[in-house]
Amino acid sequence: MNASYQEIGEAIAAHESFVILSHVRPDGDAIGSQLALGMALEAAGKKVRLINEDGLPDNLAFLPCSDRIETPPAEPLDVEVAIALDTATKPRLGDAALHAASNAKLWINIDHHKSNPGYGDLNHIDSRSPATGQILYQLITALGLPLPAASRDAIYVAVSTDTGSFQYPSTTADTYRMAADLIDSGLDVGGINSLTYDNHPFRRVELMRSLLNTLELDGGGRVAHWELTMATRDALGLKPEDSEGLIDIIRGIEGVIVAVFFEELPGGKIRVSMRSKDPRVDVCHVCMEFGGGGHALAAGIRMAGPLAAARDRVLAAVRLALPAV
Ligand code: AMP
Ligand code: MN
Ligand code: MN
Repeated sequence: MNASYQEIGEAIAAHESFVILSHVRPDGDAIGSQLALGMALEAAGKKVRLINEDGLPDNLAFLPCSDRIETPPAEPLDVEVAIALDTATKPRLGDAALHAASNAKLWINIDHHKSNPGYGDLNHIDSRSPATGQILYQLITALGLPLPAASRDAIYVAVSTDTGSFQYPSTTADTYRMAADLIDSGLDVGGINSLTYDNHPFRRVELMRSLLNTLELDGGGRVAHWELTMATRDALGLKPEDSEGLIDIIRGIEGVIVAVFFEELPGGKIRVSMRSKDPRVDVCHVCMEFGGGGHALAAGIRMAGPLAAARDRVLAAVRLALPAV
């Protein structure tokens, strides 16, 4: 059962200290959501810590107040409330982050992943929302919380990055109205888009070159996949965020319905990213077969390696999910 914004507002009003968390390997919606709510609560006079298992990725360091994102301290924080944002399952917050938040007596879970089981004491899961950042904009507005410039910019980046720049079908009229409101309240739209999309390190383009060399089609041309090995990661000196969003290149191929990105992680696990362009193919459903999750058109898995075995198993499941021809 979803808690209303009012109920979440009452819980916020009744407490003073908060730790705000989001998922490992944070994307724009994860960090943007932490900053959006964190800076709004702080402006409302609350004590706030922003913790992420993997810390702040370089590509989001342009966000105002992003230096407030910390990696987990060794000792549990003295906080009353933990708020998990944009995180489909509790373990995806990370072990060290969970330990840091372990003194919290109330858990609030705000997310848009349809696979979220509702692991908080108060849950607000809206799978129709294109980004957690958009839910937070509505929450902040509904509760009359302050919206400082750092929150405003963070919400815009959260929603822009989770909608492929306001393109995916999850984008609604409310999304555009929200963006218009943010611009009305002073957002520099050209400047922030440039910092988000036109400022990549050179090694990201080298990564693209290397990925293109592994590109293959499957499922009669309806599945495109490519892969990143540890050897390439080391050779190019890659950072985790360098691959963010690249899957859209193969998702854009004519005739392709499902795009899959396989990535060897340090430690031997395989990260799988999956995108669908066809509502008949629910990639969240496919990923849940392997313990992953996400959204109908964008989902992921972390699974055991080696790479070739993971690839074969996942591609077999994807082929089964394709519509009959
Ligand atoms: P990504 O491919 O990493 O951009 O993820 C696509 C979507 O699926 C995002 O909303 C992720 O939060 C979600 N997702 C990715 N990996 C997992 C996982 N292992 N478990 C649950 N959700 C995931
Ligand atoms: Mn996310
Ligand atoms: Mn999201």
